[in-house]
Parts: sequence; structure tokens; C-alpha cells
Amino acid sequence: MRFAIIGAGWYGCHLATALDALGLDVEVFEQHNRPFHEASGNNQFRLHQGFHYARHHATRIQSREGYMRFVERYPFLSDSVPHNIYAVPTFDSSIDFATYRLIMTATGVDFSEITTSPVPLRNVSGMLATHERVLMLTRSREYFGRKLSGRLKLSHRVERVEDRGSHVEVDGKVYDFVIDATWGHFTRPSVPVFYEPTMLLYYEGPRNFPAITLVDGPLASLYPTEERTIYTLSSVTHTPLGSFATSSEARRCLAAVDGNLVKAKVTAMETQISQYFDDFRERFRFVGPQLSIKTKPIGAHDDRSCSVTRNGRIFSVMSGKIDTIFTATERVLSLLEMRLGIEELSAPLLRSDIVEFTS
Ligand SMILES: Cc1cc2nc3c(=O)[nH]c(=O)nc-3n(C[C@H](O)[C@H](O)[C@H](O)COP(=O)(O)OP(=O)(O)OC[C@H]3O[C@@H](n4cnc5c(N)ncnc54)[C@H](O)[C@@H]3O)c2cc1C
Repeated sequence: MRFAIIGAGWYGCHLATALDALGLDVEVFEQHNRPFHEASGNNQFRLHQGFHYARHHATRIQSREGYMRFVERYPFLSDSVPHNIYAVPTFDSSIDFATYRLIMTATGVDFSEITTSPVPLRNVSGMLATHERVLMLTRSREYFGRKLSGRLKLSHRVERVEDRGSHVEVDGKVYDFVIDATWGHFTRPSVPVFYEPTMLLYYEGPRNFPAITLVDGPLASLYPTEERTIYTLSSVTHTPLGSFATSSEARRCLAAVDGNLVKAKVTAMETQISQYFDDFRERFRFVGPQLSIKTKPIGAHDDRSCSVTRNGRIFSVMSGKIDTIFTATERVLSLLEMRLGIEELSAPLLRSDIVEFTS
């Protein structure tokens, strides 16, 4: 069975290796000249366990499971974070600390409550120390580049996909199935979405400084990267650059980012984090912006779960976060199996299985 996958981000690459391991024939098309060039290479690199999503049950559960599976399947593609702190601000959080802690206890994720943090934080009413990890970008790129060598078609932007009933054509080449793993940039996902261009800020700071995530609501976080003196600063309020109905509008917005906007974002995000962490400006030095695009489901909820749909021979993946790559694989496999129509299965005849007993 031949599969074409469009997009060499986390989803396309993981799906390709998973299908390959099952003996299926896979080719991955990527418009850039390397994998992980868009969202998968430009994000906060947090291997989520669920602590970020106090307001969405399914997202927390997918993260909790995905985290365990990720660490087992790719132990060399994430690293531990020496101190990984989630702090609930006293005045600005959407929920209070006791509620937050209760939700995380009910989620079944491992944490400990701490009363003092390795860095002095102010205006917070409670803190959890967690085991969330950091994703290793350079290694992931290298690993999948090697693993998919020969099957990764780089610098190939897919223009046309046509379902012919008995097969599907990708730019004229014949496959049995195609998987759109572009996070909604080739075709729109079946769930209603919008496109959010984003700006995170890269900072240089002390080696092995704690990860600090303020929850829950329009708050900020500082997270390490694979390079132990480089961090990303993100802000729910200041990171989004707009909200657009189409991918091309979002791309135009990113292309228009200039030095003045970056300067304004630096001021806004530094001011925000300094409300909780006094000497941020003394300890960290801005090195540059990180630009990316999020594809988000429409709605005020905090849903970041993953879903996959199939229309004929075309699968469409709506990514959650990176930990949900396993959910996507399972969904693709079950949708494939569902092609064996229910009407082809025999009618239930349990009675014939019951052993006759004569006394
Ligand atoms: C600012 C920000 C912070 C985030 N932080 C985190 C985090 O800390 N942890 C986490 O788990 N998740 C995080 N995410 C989400 C995470 O980045 C995404 O869930 C994930 O990267 C999506 O992977 P993907 O493979 O679906 O998409 P992508 O990585 O975007 O890959 C899609 C690929 O498709 C290619 N493509 C598109 N159109 C075509 C075409 N026509 N032909 C060929 N190729 C094409 C693109 O070039 C791209 O390489 C964050 C996202 C953003 C934007």
C-alpha cells in the first residue's frame, strides 16, 4: 500500500516512520529544504504533560498519555528540565491555586507542591514542580532526516491532490492514500479553525535556569531550549500577532513583521514577566524573535487535542501539540481499518459459541 504524506513536521515525520514500521510504502513531501522548518521547528519546545491545560480535559488526558509514549518511543529526542515550575498568580490567574492543584491531582500527573522556588517569584499564590521535558529540535531534525532518507522529498511544494476513486494522485503521481499533515496549510482541517501568526522571543540567560510557567489565563512563560543557555519567552497576551481566516493571510502578516513590532513585543513581554520575576531584565538578554503560525480551533475553549478525518482516500490531520503524534497514528490506522465496511462482517451468532450442556 502506497502513502504520500504532505508536510515534514512532527506529524508527517512520525506518521511516516510509524507506517514504514508496519511495512507500508511511504513518501513525504516537504516544501522547504529541511524537515521541521515551520511550527515543529518554531515553538516553545515543551513536551507537555497536561499542566498547561487546566481548562480542557481531553487535551490533558491526550498530553498525559502522549508524554509517556513519547519518552518511551523517542527517549533521545527530549531532555529533562532541572526545575520545571508552574506557578499560579495571586491576582491575574483565571483560577485559584487550590482549584488548579485539584485538577492536576485528578488528571493523575506526577508533581510536587513547593513553597519556595529556586528563583524568587512574587505575586504567586502556589507552585507545582513538574517533570515536563524539553524537545530536542536539532536531534529530531537529524533523526527523521536519516530515518526517512530516500523517502523525504524536500523542496517539493505539493500543488494538486486528486482522489480518483481507485487511487489518489499527488502532483500526478499515483498513491493509495494521501495524508495532509500540513496543520491546515494545504487544505483546511474539517474542524473550523483560524490561523494565528505568533512571536516568541529568544533570550540568552544562565545555564539550567528553571522553567517558569504562569497559569492559568493570559499569562507568560519562560522555557529552556535544547541549548541550555537559550530560552523562549512566550505570552498568551502578546505572542499572537492576529487572527486570520486563511493560511495565506497569516503568512502575509508574518512577512510584514518589522523591527518596531519586535521592539514593542520585547517591551510588553519583559514588563509582563517582570511582574512575577523581578530581575528578569538583569539575568536575560534578548537575542531575537521566533516567528511561527498556530492553527487553532475556533471557540473560547482551550482545546488543543488532535483529530484526524478521512474523506475518500485523503486523510487530514489536525494536530494538537507534539505529544499527540501517537493519537494521530492510531486514528489513521483505525480509519484505514474502518474501510472494511461493517456490512461485510458476519451477523452476531453468539448462541453457536455456547457449549451445549446435557445433564
Ligand atoms: C508559538 C508556538 C508555540 C508552541 N509551543 C508548543 C510547545 O511548547 N509544545 C508543543 O507540543 N507544541 C507547541 N506548539 C504546537 C506545535 O508546534 C504544533 O502542534 C506542531 O509543530 C504541529 O506539527 P505539524 O507537523 O502538524 O505542522 P508543521 O510543523 O507546521 O509541519 C507542516 C509542514 O507542512 C509543510 N507544508 C505545508 N504546505 C505544504 C505543501 N503544499 N507542500 C509541501 N509541504 C507543505 C510545511 O512546510 C511544514 O513543514 C506551539 C506552536 C506555536 C506556533
